[in-house]
Amino acid sequence: MMNTFADLGINNDILKGLSSLGFQEPTPVQEQVIPLMLERQVDMVSLAQTGTGKTAAFGVPLIQLTNSKNKQTQGLILCPTRELCMQVARDLEAFSRHVKGLRVLAVYGGASIEQQINALRKGVQIIVATPGRLNDLINRGNVNISGVRYVVFDEADEMLQMGFQDELNAILAQTPAEKNTLLFSATMSREVKAIAGRYMSDPVEITIGKRNAGAENVHHEYYMVHARDRYPALKRIVDNCPDNYSIIFCRTRRETHEVANKLIQDGYNADALHGDLSQAQRDQVMKKFRCKNLQLLVATDVAARGLDVNDLTHVINYNLPDDNAGYTHRSGRTGRAGRSGTSVAIIHMKERFKIRQIEKNIKKKFKQCRIPSGADICKKQLVNLIDVVTKVEVDHDQIDPLYAEISEKLGALDREELIKKFISLEFNRFLKYYKNAPDLNVDDREKKRHGKREHQGREFHHNSSRKQKFTQFFLNVGRRQGIMPQGLIGKINGIPGVGRIKVGKIEILRNTARLEADSRYTPQILAAFQHAEINGKTVSIEVSRTNYPASRPKHDEIRHRKGRKFKAA
Ligand code: ADP
Ligand code: MG
Repeated sequence: MMNTFADLGINNDILKGLSSLGFQEPTPVQEQVIPLMLERQVDMVSLAQTGTGKTAAFGVPLIQLTNSKNKQTQGLILCPTRELCMQVARDLEAFSRHVKGLRVLAVYGGASIEQQINALRKGVQIIVATPGRLNDLINRGNVNISGVRYVVFDEADEMLQMGFQDELNAILAQTPAEKNTLLFSATMSREVKAIAGRYMSDPVEITIGKRNAGAENVHHEYYMVHARDRYPALKRIVDNCPDNYSIIFCRTRRETHEVANKLIQDGYNADALHGDLSQAQRDQVMKKFRCKNLQLLVATDVAARGLDVNDLTHVINYNLPDDNAGYTHRSGRTGRAGRSGTSVAIIHMKERFKIRQIEKNIKKKFKQCRIPSGADICKKQLVNLIDVVTKVEVDHDQIDPLYAEISEKLGALDREELIKKFISLEFNRFLKYYKNAPDLNVDDREKKRHGKREHQGREFHHNSSRKQKFTQFFLNVGRRQGIMPQGLIGKINGIPGVGRIKVGKIEILRNTARLEADSRYTPQILAAFQHAEINGKTVSIEVSRTNYPASRPKHDEIRHRKGRKFKAA
C-alpha cells in the first residue's frame, strides 16, 4: 500500500495546503525524507533528479518542525539563484497556507533591500535566500540567524559552481553549532561533496535512483541538420506540434537573444530569458510563460534554473550543453509530475558523438528523427486548424443579431469557396513559408556526395537543389545609390524566417551590383529586394544569367566580362 502524507506524520493544517495543490501521494524522495526529518535530528544528503519533488521533501517537514508562535528565524534555505529562491518560497507559502502565524520570506539580490529589511523586522520563521543577498543583510545587521535549527542547501551542486564559497562560509559562521544541515541535489558532484564535507557531520545519504518517474517519462530525440539549418529546423519542429509549449535551451546569452528575436519576428509567441535582462524583465517573462501567455521560452541554463513548469511538451536543445550533467538538468524540465515529455536535440554531423556520450550517461537511447517536410507540417497545421474550428464555442447571443448582415456580405460565396477562403486566412502563412521548402535532413550518403562535389569547385546554378550552392543576383542599384556590402548583407540577414543565409562574392559597380548567395533561398532573397526603395530608387533584382568563377581577382573584372565565355547556369 502506498503511503499518504498523513501516514508520514504530516499534520492537518499542512495536509490541507497539500491537497489544495493536488498533492495526493508523496513522491519517493518525500517518502524517505519526511519521516526521517520528523523523527530524528540528522544531517542529510539527498540525491534525486530534477522534478522529483525535493522542495516538498524538505519544505513540508520544515514547516511542521517550525514553531509558528515564536517569531525567531528557525529555518534557512539557501538557493543558488533568485528564480529558484522565489519558487521555493512560493511553494513553502502554498504548503503552509493554513498554518497560522507562519511567515516565509524570500531574500534575493536585484530587488529592493529595504523592503526585505522591513519584512524581516516583522519576524520571519523561514528564510529562503540567495547567498549574496543574505550575506549583505548579515553585514548590515538586518538579519539574525543565530537561532536557526535547520539549514537547507537546495540545488547544492549549483551553489559552488556559482562562486558562492565565501558567502557560504560567512553565513554558516553565523548559525549555531547545534542544528541540522540538509543538502538536496540532482547529482553527487564534486561541489556537493565539498559542501557535505565542510558543513555537515556524518550525514545520512538518501539516493533516489531508478525510481525517478520524471526521467522515465522523457523521450529523447535528435535531428541532424547542417549547422546553418539549425534555426529553420527549430521552426519545423515547433510548427509540427501545434500546441507546442517548450523551453528552447541555448548555450550563450547572445544566442538566446538571437533565436528569440528571430522567432518573434517570425510571428511566434516567444521570448528570451537570460542574465542580461533586468530582474523585472525576467520576472515578467517567467510569469507570462507560466500562465502560457508565452509558448516558447528561449533560455540559458542558468536563467531557466528553478523555473518550474509541469506541462511542457518539449525541451529543445538548440545547442547541446557542454557537459552531460547539463543535459540531464535540461531534459528533467519536462516529463514532470507523472506527465510525459520529449527532449529534443538539434545537432550537426560532427556532434553525433555527443549524443552517444549522453546516451551512456542517461542510460537511455535517443531516437533519430527526420525533420518533417513542409508538406507534412502544412497538413498537421491544417488538421489542427480544423480541429480548433470544430471545437470553438459560438456565442449565439452576440453573433445572431449580426448574422443577417454577415450572411448578406458572404452570400455570394458558395460553401466550398467560403471554406477555402477562411482556411487560407489562417493558413496562408504556412503555405507560403513552406512552399518549395528544402529537405533539411543530413545523412551519411549525402555527406559523401557533398564532399566530392566540393572538391570539384564551386558550382553556380540557380535552381534550389542541395548540391548547388550559390546563385548570383543582379541589382539595378550601385555605388551611386550608396549601396555598400554591409548594407546588402544586413538586408539578407534581416530576412525573417530563415537562418543565416550564406553570402558569397559581392561586387558593387557604379549603377549596379552583383551578389552571390545560397541558392536555396533564392525566392526569399528576390522577395526581400524586389521593389524595395534605396535612396529614392526602386530596386529591381534578378537572377544573373551569366556566372563566373568566384575566385576571380577583382581587378580583372572588366576583361573577364568582355572576353571570357562563362558557363551559363
Ligand atoms: P525538484 O526540486 O526535485 O526538481 P520540485 O520540488 O520542484 O522538484 O517538484 C516538481 C513538481 O512536482 C512541482 O511542480 C511540484 O508541485 C510537483 N510535486 C511535488 N511533489 C508532488 C506530489 N507529492 N504530488 C504531486 N505533485 C508533486
Ligand atoms: Mg528543486
